[in-house]
Amino acid sequence: MSKPFWRTKSLQEMTTAEWESLCDGCARCCLEKLEDEDTGKIYYTNVACRLLDCEACRCSDYENRMKRVKDCVKITPEEQFFWLPKTCAYRRVAEGKDLEWWHPLVSGDPETVHQAGVSVRGRVGGIEGKVRVRDYDQYLVRWPMLEAKGSNKKRKLERRETKKPRAKNV
Ligand code: SF4
Ligand code: SF4
Repeated sequence: MSKPFWRTKSLQEMTTAEWESLCDGCARCCLEKLEDEDTGKIYYTNVACRLLDCEACRCSDYENRMKRVKDCVKITPEEQFFWLPKTCAYRRVAEGKDLEWWHPLVSGDPETVHQAGVSVRGRVGGIEGKVRVRDYDQYLVRWPMLEAKGSNKKRKLERRETKKPRAKNV
């Protein structure tokens, strides 16, 4: 059996359709972040971007996201991926890793990213604009930067955009 495209192509070599399909739909990258200005370290909050559909874990206006949210980052192959979650497919492929069992391209089911507890569904603690930026430190969470539970374990399956970190001392 031939290897899937993410095992044989670099991010730069992927077609637009392949590139788009690589997103697992977790929406972790659509959470607000704080950056330590001294160290550059990124801290995730559980405050979601105001355009995020927190149940579907999808941008509610993907086509116009760059115009509507000024610090939404369009991820490209040239991106530095360190600020993205370790589970993010773009970061994983850039680091030479394979996709996990719950990735929709592997499982064939868009729900597995939610079933595996990787997506933000049910884990959002606030919405941008409804939480004051100066209160973001009360919403800091570690899970967006952690690997998913059960990673690398073989599972029998029943069937299977972005924001620039805000500069702030923490
Ligand atoms: S973190 Fe990566 S895989 Fe998850 S939604 Fe964002 S770009 Fe897609
Ligand atoms: S893709 Fe950008 S604009 Fe859309 S929800 Fe995510 S961070 Fe917000």
